[in-house]
Amino acid sequence: MPTEPIPGEEECTTSLCTLDTVLEPNALEAGTRLWMSSQYRQALLSDVLDFIIYENDNSNESKLFSIEGMEAERNGGEVDFEEKVIVDDSFKDNQCLMNVYEAMGKAPIFDNYLQNFDSDMSVANLKFGADPNFASNRDRKYHNAMAITNPPLNSNMINIDFNTDPSTSGNILNKPDVFKAVSLIHEVLHAEMYKNVGCRESC
Ligand SMILES: [Zn+2]
Repeated sequence: MPTEPIPGEEECTTSLCTLDTVLEPNALEAGTRLWMSSQYRQALLSDVLDFIIYENDNSNESKLFSIEGMEAERNGGEVDFEEKVIVDDSFKDNQCLMNVYEAMGKAPIFDNYLQNFDSDMSVANLKFGADPNFASNRDRKYHNAMAITNPPLNSNMINIDFNTDPSTSGNILNKPDVFKAVSLIHEVLHAEMYKNVGCRESC
């Protein structure tokens, strides 16, 4: 920690002000910043600051993850800073998928599976979502897939989209829960392949 205040930072007495100095100007959507200014978001705000400043030494990746995380929370999703996993509201609002995810123990248990498999693996930087318009958003050859794991974004985030489109044969909601569970693990492993093998082909 610096012994002298950094010029321009000494007037920062609130967490929101600290967040403003940590993130690039306008990096956070104005509406999300306003939402974060509520007293009800104090716990989330201190999680974000701990995550960026103390746990990740102000890394760019941690900032981008936090921005995504705050936006997900604002939209009704959830963020796990410990495991670095975001559950999009599209996934969270889907009781069917969420029940299976919860029954499987959520991100910490997934992380354990991966660690048992290979200690270098982790669920970090995954975002789970559900896509009820899978048919129009995806190439026809994927319409019988229960989910797609997308190549990493610049932020290193990997989006996993579950197919909840009733017009496709892959619609995961029509499958037994054991299929949903297998599909969750399967996609998490695809994400690992992207990270470790550098594969850039969506599967
Ligand atoms: Zn696959």
